[in-house]
Amino acid sequence: MLTLKGVPAAPGVAMGKSLLFSSEELMVPRRPITDAQVPTEVLRLEEAMILTRHQIAAIQKKLGDELGQEHAEIFNAHLLVLEDQSLREEIITGLKSQRLNVEAIFNDVVHKHLKAFARTEDEYLRERTADIDDVRKRVLRNLLGKQPAPIDQITERAVIVAHDLSPSETAQMHKDRVLAFVTDVGGRTSHTAIMAKSLEIPAVVGSVDVTRRVQKGEFVIVDGTRGEVIVDPDPPTITRYELEQRRNHELRRQLQTLKDLKAETLDHRPVILSANIELPEEVPSVIAHGAHGIGLFRTEFLYLNRYDLPNEEEQYEAYKTVAEQMAPQPVIIRTMDLGGDKFLSPLQFPTEMNPFMGWRAIRFSLARPDIFRAQLRAVLRASVRGNLKLMYPMISGVEELRRANEILGEVRRELDQEGQAYAKELEVGAMIEVPSAALICDLLAKEVNFFSIGTNDLIQYSLAVDRVNEKIAYLYEPTHPAILRLIKQIIDVGHANKIWVGMCGEMAGEPPLALLLLGMGLDEFSTSPVQLPLVKRVIRSVEYSFAQSVMQQALTLPTGKDVETFLLASLKQVVPDLVEV
Ligand code: PEP
Ligand code: MG
Repeated sequence: MLTLKGVPAAPGVAMGKSLLFSSEELMVPRRPITDAQVPTEVLRLEEAMILTRHQIAAIQKKLGDELGQEHAEIFNAHLLVLEDQSLREEIITGLKSQRLNVEAIFNDVVHKHLKAFARTEDEYLRERTADIDDVRKRVLRNLLGKQPAPIDQITERAVIVAHDLSPSETAQMHKDRVLAFVTDVGGRTSHTAIMAKSLEIPAVVGSVDVTRRVQKGEFVIVDGTRGEVIVDPDPPTITRYELEQRRNHELRRQLQTLKDLKAETLDHRPVILSANIELPEEVPSVIAHGAHGIGLFRTEFLYLNRYDLPNEEEQYEAYKTVAEQMAPQPVIIRTMDLGGDKFLSPLQFPTEMNPFMGWRAIRFSLARPDIFRAQLRAVLRASVRGNLKLMYPMISGVEELRRANEILGEVRRELDQEGQAYAKELEVGAMIEVPSAALICDLLAKEVNFFSIGTNDLIQYSLAVDRVNEKIAYLYEPTHPAILRLIKQIIDVGHANKIWVGMCGEMAGEPPLALLLLGMGLDEFSTSPVQLPLVKRVIRSVEYSFAQSVMQQALTLPTGKDVETFLLASLKQVVPDLVEV
């Protein structure tokens, strides 16, 4: 038995056989062939290509059915490679001139293109390399009679063990088959972790060398709550975790009874409990978990996993659907937050040294007003179909906010001229997730109707800790005194300026931190749907004055660890079953 530590990414316990997901190189045999064998090799290539096409079409169908069309379209580029006639001709010429088996020729030809693509100045072509390489491996596997890559072809229920998984790969997982996943790299608030929470798949990231320590098929327990992976556990450990699974299940069942109850303290101070979503398909889960609305719709996910941009109409449909399903509850649409760890294929994103501090979010939107306007038009048009609000990500100063609002004003006038309806009173907010914005929030408050604190980024920028880097995950502390002070200041300043203040970072969904934030007077808590009932339980279990005194005492403590210990002890007084023993 071996226990590996990692970063807790998505809560819950799961156990089962491991399935190693790796993009390891395939061994490609090289053997001479005769002229007479060339037609057979061409036939083998054709068959492998057809098989690959069928496999990709099957994946697209499955993804389309389970998660929506946007997920399926990631594979359109793969199909284009398979249909490329000039590539096919080059391989046939190679077969005839070099007289080697088709695996070797195919691999050489595709590698030559990959090298050229990797060196090109054209960002778009450079980004195509991953797709071409994926097709290369799929065709080679078929030529060699090997199994397709496991992540999209999983038929058994398994725990995925991988070096890394992108947010879009995670989005492809199906929770019926993926029991849990563990990766070598990654941080707690990476979008891969956030996606795992949305899908309710227990996950541990940043486990450093899990891919070297776990063998294929080995039995593992993934404890996504504590960030631990137990390899080859002994029977008492299995029994202990089975008990925990049952306890978790029972706790969830109890929490479900809170679904229709108000989110208010014992002395009736109400708060708004909202959910974060990435795609419209998540709305049923939001409703099932008893949210008051959607506090963050990460619209950039509409732009990922595809090779063309969603046009205004398509976006309108998505926003309209969510608005109508949630009405009369509010839905806060965040304008696209591309960049950071979410990249887009059709747009030519440069490779950056520090993408989280680079061409991201509102910076990108202001640089590409054509794309930004289409999104704003879609949001405004959908605003009459429900209760929509709009917010901008990564605001770092007043000018940026004014410029975004100016464009919004232009788009409003354009719609007026066209006679298109939109909600005139649409509330507009700013995310406060950059330290400069936190420090000048009195100035920003004059330009907006509300603030939503994005702690995932606010913590990484304030503490200079990359949110996806597992090596420094220990420094990523929501309880750091600097973070507490910043948040308190944002809430106080927002209230002094008569605007409401919410939080849509992961911090809002952690029970001990929710107690602290309640005491600070936070108006709205928006978090992954699975965390919502936990927060509601905390809020319904305390008097507001208790939360206030906890907050005041927490603010006097010198270290993040002290604050964490104190908050856990305070929470234990009111809801002991939410705190681990
Ligand atoms: C945040 O930064 O806290 C946030 C909610 O936005 P995202 O996680 O999408 O960056
Ligand atoms: Mg953010």
